[in-house]
Order: sequence, then structure tokens, then C-alpha cells
Amino acid sequence: MNTKNLTRLLCGLIFSAICAPLKAQDCVSYTPDPSSFPYSIPSHGYVTQTTSNSQSTYPSVPGTAVFGNPKGMASLVFGSDAASLFQACNNVFPKQMGSTTFMDTNAPEQWLTTITVTTSGGDPSTATMNITEKFQNTVLNWDGVCPTVMRSDDRHDTYTYAYHIGTGAFTINLDANRHFQCLNPSGTGVGLDQVGQQVAYGFGVWPIGDHIQVTNRFLPGLETGLWVNGLVNPAFGVLDNQWIHHTFISPKAEIDLKVNVMPSQVGNPLGSELVGFTFRRAPTLVPNVPWTLGFDTIELPFNDEITLPIKIWVVGGPYSKGRMKALNSIAVAGYLSQRGRMGLKPLVLGPIEDKTGLGASTFSFGCTDKTNNIAALKAYFGFLEGVINVYIVNSIDHDLGVLGDGCSYGSGIVLLNIHTPFDTTLAHELGHNFGLRHPCESFQLTDSGQNLSCANSDYFDITNLMWPFNDGQNQYLTEGQMFRAHFTFGSVLNGIISPYNSIPTLRPGQEVRGCDPLAVDPTLACPALCKRIWPNGSKQPSDCKEP
Ligand SMILES: [Zn+2]
Repeated sequence: MNTKNLTRLLCGLIFSAICAPLKAQDCVSYTPDPSSFPYSIPSHGYVTQTTSNSQSTYPSVPGTAVFGNPKGMASLVFGSDAASLFQACNNVFPKQMGSTTFMDTNAPEQWLTTITVTTSGGDPSTATMNITEKFQNTVLNWDGVCPTVMRSDDRHDTYTYAYHIGTGAFTINLDANRHFQCLNPSGTGVGLDQVGQQVAYGFGVWPIGDHIQVTNRFLPGLETGLWVNGLVNPAFGVLDNQWIHHTFISPKAEIDLKVNVMPSQVGNPLGSELVGFTFRRAPTLVPNVPWTLGFDTIELPFNDEITLPIKIWVVGGPYSKGRMKALNSIAVAGYLSQRGRMGLKPLVLGPIEDKTGLGASTFSFGCTDKTNNIAALKAYFGFLEGVINVYIVNSIDHDLGVLGDGCSYGSGIVLLNIHTPFDTTLAHELGHNFGLRHPCESFQLTDSGQNLSCANSDYFDITNLMWPFNDGQNQYLTEGQMFRAHFTFGSVLNGIISPYNSIPTLRPGQEVRGCDPLAVDPTLACPALCKRIWPNGSKQPSDCKEP
């Protein structure tokens, strides 16, 4: 049982009052929004007028019918409880019926108004809401239509809505009738008798959720994974629910979030953001998303794949073996990036240098004395400023006699053991250059000794690329790791200036921020390290602690 389920169970058994906000997160509000209510459609009028000496008909007099917002009408009937009618909790809407009658004295007709709302309940694909609004005038001759005394004046307007709460599909009708009679000027008998009708009919789909428009994908139809930060469920001001990296996966260019996302609270600047992942594109962050209270279409233009320049030096031979190790490792790093939607494309610069004649074949390179080792490597074998330098060596001495497959000095400098049996090692060391650490917190690669226990956690195991022990299964990064690699300070992708190397940023002008490199809990700025979108690797998205 994972932590989340345990929390829920405890909440259900003991702390129901305290834990109520957790339950609320299983509820989603669906409120229709054609950009702005009231919603107007064309109407048609038909009038027949009879006087003592004539009869006239006037068909198809154009007009406009104005339909109010269903949630406004539900509020008139149910008050603050109306919010629950538009809310599916555990994917089920409540069943409800209610009615209210009141006098609308604002209009000259002084309408006697009755509103009835009936909901079917059920799941979002089928749940319906039927609304009728009936208006009857209570003031005769409110518009002065009778030049003389009015004998009768009977007007009824009925607006009906048949509306699918979960999909936004609607059918609306207006049927308005008026029959009045005016006495003739002599006061004897009917001088003017008029029957009028106004009708309107409309159908369509009111948008339910905001849309995200993704552009610059590698190919149309490839899946996009989205994280969305924003405020949802605040309809009627009843319940605020901050989405924290709420996940969507879709192959569509226009992704329907199914709910109306609204601006986050003031003072919560990271509460309105979008992050997108897709094949062969760099993860892309849209900060300060301008969510509105109405329907929004937000554009997420994917950043291009980033070319990662790498210079390779074979210093421990034989050269042909070192060259093959380098090429295979680069190919695997590129493959893992593509498959994992990392958005990086390694590029080997110039020839793979042959420095095997310089006597390093029997030398064990240390991983711990960065200052002296980097200086010696540069002076003795060569170095290309401004890119990642990879040295293929015969032996790596981490410390205390532990031999390693690879070593990252940070600063864009990597040692790779020519004897490592796994071609995933270079990708792991590049991960360190992106500021990633081993995801098992008990494991510390220190100068003074190693804790070799790295127990599988709830969130990570050896299938993760940053796991410290390599057996070839280490193949995936979580999206939480990729987010850090791209968006945080300390990643080579965002440039480094150090005494050892200076690499210009590969993400000019893009968002960079600080994130806890081992964070278990998500924040608005940074997802949890284990946060997943796709279930590649042995750990599922649900294995990670969700907000
Ligand atoms: Zn490592």
C-alpha cells in the first residue's frame, strides 16, 4: 500500500474532519462557458393583429433571445449548494431537483418568475441538467402598446435548457407568447387584438474545459505529456483547489483540460504554469499562464531539441576499443533521450582523439581530486573549452580502492572506463552534469568512503538511469528528474562558468530556477523528483507521491 492510499484510509477511519480537503481533490467542477454568458441566439417573431376593420400578419420578425448562465439559475434555486450540482465527485454527479418562484420587479413587466432545475445524476458522459425559466407579466400595458384602455394582457415566456453537465452539449429553446386586447376609443368593444409569438432554438456544445494548444511537435499525432498548475473548482467561491502539476497525456494538438482553470491566488506566482514533454523536443515551461475566469485556449510552443556538443578523448587504449565504447555510449545516450522525451541530441565534435600513445594505459584515474586531476587531464591529453569533454580511460579509482565505470567532475568533464560492460554509463555521468544526483538518499558518493547500501525505495530502483549501481537496466529518468535537468541552476544545459570549463547556456532566454535535487514532496515551482508522466521503467506514475 502506498502512502497516499494509507493516508486516505486513515482519513476515512479516524480523521474525516481534518482530512476533508483530501477528499475534495476527487471532485471536479464542470461549468459551461461559451466565453461569456448571457448567451444570445437569433429569434423569430410572428404577430397577427386584428382591428375592427383589418387583419394583418407579420411573420418572422427578427429578434434576439438571451439565455442566462445555468450555474446562475441553479444558484437562484439551490443557493450555495448549487456548486455541488456541477461537481462530479469520484466521477459521479449528484441527482437533484428544485424550484423557486419570485417576483422580478426590475423589469417593467414585473415578472412572476419560476425556475426549475432537475439533474439526472450519474457519470459525466451522461449526466443531464434540465432547466426551465417561466416568466409571466403582472403589469398590464407595461409598454403602452394600447393607446386606450387595455382589456387583457397575457404574456408567458418559457426558456428551456437541456444540458449535459459533463460534455457541455446543450439544446435551448425560447417560446414567448403575448395576447392583448385594447378597447376601442369609444370604450365599446375590442379595438385592437394582437397575438404575438417569439421563438428561438439553438444547440451546440458550451466549452467545459480550457484548452492547451501544443505546437512545434516533432510530428503531428505524437503524444504530449502536460503538467498544469492552476486553480480549479472555485465555482461559486465554494472550494479552492490548486492543481500542482496535474497530468494530462494526449496525442492531440488541442488538449481539453475538461475543467475551467482559473488564475491562482495573488501571492502564488508559480501557481499558474504549464510544462510540456514530447518526443524529440526539450521540455517546455510556460510561466504565468494567463488563465481567465472564462474559457481559455493557451498555447504551448515546444522548444526545439537541444544539441549537446561533446568532445571525446581516448587516453587509455586500445584506441579502437575506446572509440567503439565512446560511439556506442553516445548512441545509447541519444536513444535514451529520444525514448524518454529528454529533448537532447548528443553531437560528437570533430574526430575522436587518439591519445593512447601518451602512456595512460596503465594509469588509474582518480575521481575525487577534481582540482589536480582536471588540470592534469587538460595539460597532458587536451581539452576543448565550452563543451562537454569525455575522457575514455583504463581504470577509475573512486576512492578506497573501489573501481568505477564512470566519473563526473561536473563542469562538463566526464571520465568513462573503457572496460565498463554497459553503454548506459556515459548517459548516467551526463545526468550528473545536468545536476542530477543518485535518487537513493542513503547513498553518498563521498571522498571519505562509500555507503554501498542503496535500497530500492517506493519511488526508485535500478531501472532508473541515476541509480548508482549499473547493471544495464538503468535506462529511464523520471519527468521530475528531466524537469530538474532542464530548468534548474547547476545543470550544464543552463551554462557553467567555473575555473575548469565555461559552457554557454544551451537554453538561452528560458526559465531557470532552483529545485531541491532530492525532493520527495512536490511544490508549485518544482515537481517531486519521482514525478512521472509515462510509465516507462518499472515504477508507475502512481508510485510517486502526488499532490
Ligand atoms: Zn553517479
